[in-house]
Amino acid sequence: MEGGMISVDRWARGSQAYFLTHLHSDHTRGLSSTWSHGPLFCSRTTAKLFPLKFPDFKFALLRVVEIGSWHHLSLSSPSSGSPAPIHFMPIDAFHCPGAVMFLFKGIFGHVLYTGDFRWEATGERSMKARNMLLDALHGAKVDHLYLDNTYCNPLYCFPTREVAAQQVIEIIASHPDHDIIIGIDSLGKEDLLLQISRSLKIKIWVWPERLQTMHLLGYPDIFTTRTSLTRVRAVPRYSFSMNTLEALNAKRPTIGIMPSGLPWVVKPFEGKMKDSLTLSVASTNRTLAGNGTRVDRNMKSAEKVHDHIFTVPYSDHCCFHEIKDFVQLTKPYNVKGIVSMSFCYVNPAYYLSHLFSSNHSSQKTRLDPEILMEVEKVERKGKMKIRDIRGTGLKKRTNKANFMGVRIRRVAILRQISRGVKIVECDSPD
Ligand SMILES: [Zn+2]
Repeated sequence: MEGGMISVDRWARGSQAYFLTHLHSDHTRGLSSTWSHGPLFCSRTTAKLFPLKFPDFKFALLRVVEIGSWHHLSLSSPSSGSPAPIHFMPIDAFHCPGAVMFLFKGIFGHVLYTGDFRWEATGERSMKARNMLLDALHGAKVDHLYLDNTYCNPLYCFPTREVAAQQVIEIIASHPDHDIIIGIDSLGKEDLLLQISRSLKIKIWVWPERLQTMHLLGYPDIFTTRTSLTRVRAVPRYSFSMNTLEALNAKRPTIGIMPSGLPWVVKPFEGKMKDSLTLSVASTNRTLAGNGTRVDRNMKSAEKVHDHIFTVPYSDHCCFHEIKDFVQLTKPYNVKGIVSMSFCYVNPAYYLSHLFSSNHSSQKTRLDPEILMEVEKVERKGKMKIRDIRGTGLKKRTNKANFMGVRIRRVAILRQISRGVKIVECDSPD
């Protein structure tokens, strides 16, 4: 496949077809209501949500594609003009509503672009996605894998979302007299909120635009914009801060819960933060999880990181073991990470190259993946940015260090939080 044929999560002019994995803002950078460079392929749910984000978009450009079906495109080679047909299949990425990965097949072999994804080993939906991918590959190995490498390091060891959701529920249940705020993005974590609502028999407050999203997604009538109806509020992540929590606590006892896989990255650098409070919530640090699967002894659990703030390792991205499982399953010849963050870049080859296929004789796989297709390298800013709110001159160090394959800015985020800094805007990798 040559450049100039298709683009995935990349919106510059010059391709014949465009593919959108999901609607998170780091994948739609460059897309706008006035964008009109070509046909845009996405899942049915993404198409349904599209008008909320891009109200004046030319919807005739949208091409809804069914998950689990092969689709055919008659493209042409930009260099020779000769026909270059491709087949592609969207597969459930299990990330946020509408999220898919795309498997492409053609004379170039198999190219898989995961977008953001989660690959849990249990659950009916996960099994379905796994079988779908295996059936689609039909014994073939992936020639080029563009991988969500957000947490591609053994440091990132967190439980399934089902287990993490239970931790959130236990925190809420153990604070019966507190108001609760939970930081979420404009899309994602719906299942967490549903589980909280069902388990505690309580409605969940969301902001008006989020309620529109919930209605479009067809969720039951458990979400409300009336604060008087519930003590649990899901708030935009950017408004979740220590300042907010302190202000709220001046009026009523309130705790904040941040569901994210992110905090664990700073553990090796947290220095003297021993008094940073592990909590009275269910620990997953045991041999067997509730569903009978083995759990890593180092698996992270909920933590209290501030008087009013808990973090819970509820993530819509793969933990390291899931990434490893995915690479083992797809046996790629070439792998490229699609995500880099301002404080951290994880090279998938560092830990996983022994799982890659090798000795591939085909000329096509000797090509640099960059020229196969135009894909977005998702640049995410430091998702947990820190700002000193006491004016004590906290200095953000920007020197980078190599640590076990991860390039990390030496910003000990949790330590800074403990000194009274604020978590500001998070376009989250959750
Ligand atoms: Zn995403």
